[in-house]
Amino acid sequence: MRILVTNDDGVHADGIFALKVALEPLGEVFVVAPERPRSAAAHAITLHKPVRLSKVALRDGSDAYAISGTPADCVVLGTQAVMDGRTDLVVSGINHGPNLGWDVHYSGTVAAAKEAAMTGHPAIAISVASYGLNLDYCTAAAYASVLAKHIAQNPLPIGTVINVNVPYLPASEIAGVAVTFQGPRQYVDRFERRVDPAGRDYYWLGGTLADARSPEGSDVRAISESKISVTPLQLDATAYDMLSEMREWTPATISARSDA
Ligand code: MN
Repeated sequence: MRILVTNDDGVHADGIFALKVALEPLGEVFVVAPERPRSAAAHAITLHKPVRLSKVALRDGSDAYAISGTPADCVVLGTQAVMDGRTDLVVSGINHGPNLGWDVHYSGTVAAAKEAAMTGHPAIAISVASYGLNLDYCTAAAYASVLAKHIAQNPLPIGTVINVNVPYLPASEIAGVAVTFQGPRQYVDRFERRVDPAGRDYYWLGGTLADARSPEGSDVRAISESKISVTPLQLDATAYDMLSEMREWTPATISARSDA
């Protein structure tokens, strides 16, 4: 099995190294990742300037490829330029911090997996639900290996990716694995206004989570219950429940006069 490993935290992040080591027993692992942290890059691709690919050494001396672009760029170049179109699985992570609920739309980690799905590759995104420093990624890495093995035997439907979030706990304290849906996740106080040394305002974006109980069965709830959350995501973002209703009420004609 030929596996592409990427992330959005950068090629030298601890999480991607733990992932590479965990997946090596399953096949040939290629590490192709951004040269610097690109968290919250979502699904951006670099279209209007050059993208550089350089060979770098990881901490065990093995080769990796650092890309001057985004996580999605890494998947394009990783699968095609580095791996010559022969990739069996793409695994993105292990992200430093959770990718839960609506936050998934900001995530470079998840976007890399989605980019892989767009070209027909089975793909997993995996994150540890902690922002702590110097995390130990071994619980998440062990689960990545289990899931990768399973997907190699049981192919995913085209256009789907698996988004995994792992509580930051020793394996013995994990309360199981929950198959979940994306919960709501809302923030309050989205920015702080500050003043720079020249007396001008600037803004710092972030926010704190709204104090809402997440619904039973959601990814957010699973993490709060010390469970590994596994969510199937799909590239097709259509709100299917609305289709028939919208066909009734959507204006179907243009009434404005064309003066052109
Ligand atoms: Mn990240």
